[in-house]
Amino acid sequence: MKILVTNDDGVFAPGIRILAEALSENGHSPVVVAPDRERSSVGHAITLTRPLRLWNIEGGAYAGGFPVYACDGTPSDSVVLGLEEVCPKADMVVSGINRGPNLADDLTYSGTVSAAMEGHFLGKPALAVSLNCGPSETLHHYDAAASALVRILEVLHETILSNGLLLNVNVPNLSRESIRGFRVTRKGVRIYREKVNRLNDPKGRAYYWISGKPEDALSPGSDVLAVSEGYVSVTPIHMDMTHFPSIDMLRDRGLESLH
Ligand code: MN
Repeated sequence: MKILVTNDDGVFAPGIRILAEALSENGHSPVVVAPDRERSSVGHAITLTRPLRLWNIEGGAYAGGFPVYACDGTPSDSVVLGLEEVCPKADMVVSGINRGPNLADDLTYSGTVSAAMEGHFLGKPALAVSLNCGPSETLHHYDAAASALVRILEVLHETILSNGLLLNVNVPNLSRESIRGFRVTRKGVRIYREKVNRLNDPKGRAYYWISGKPEDALSPGSDVLAVSEGYVSVTPIHMDMTHFPSIDMLRDRGLESLH
């Protein structure tokens, strides 16, 4: 398959390089178009107020001889440019491998997942893949995550292509031998507590740093539970955010008779 590969950690991050090289080694044709720097947690932002540049990165960081482009925009900008300017014939979009998980409600913040969503909006099947490593972990099993993704594509590629699937994949930060298997999951619940850190600058004035401690609801069938138990979670997602039961409720309340 011809696969547009992007991420939100930047074009020189190890996760995207290992992913693109694994796709190439396994018979796919990757074309990388990714942000020139880290753009994690920018969500689905696209750049409308300034020009964008796109340039080819020759040689160097990637092995395999496939094309690699950087762009000075967001992950979603990279997908738009990638599919219109660089690789219109891509069979699908793969985003990752993200440094850190994109579980539960991380989906809405994630540049990694949003890039896959953009691919989906533009008519391509798309898949986001993230490694469940913590910020202080120094050992990253990107190779195991890339291998998990390659196996998902082997089993599912016709299904992915014919159904236009959008999948969110999270991989435990374990060696390939230690990963227990794969689980088809639903989006779980993760709540961040104490999001705001209030600190003081050298002049004694307050500044704020948003982070938060994740608290997971480990409910059966969820992505957070599967990954916590050492499984690769594969969550099919869709972009229709309509809450259908509320349509009738709002009509019954007489909303449509207002004028
Ligand atoms: Mn990231």
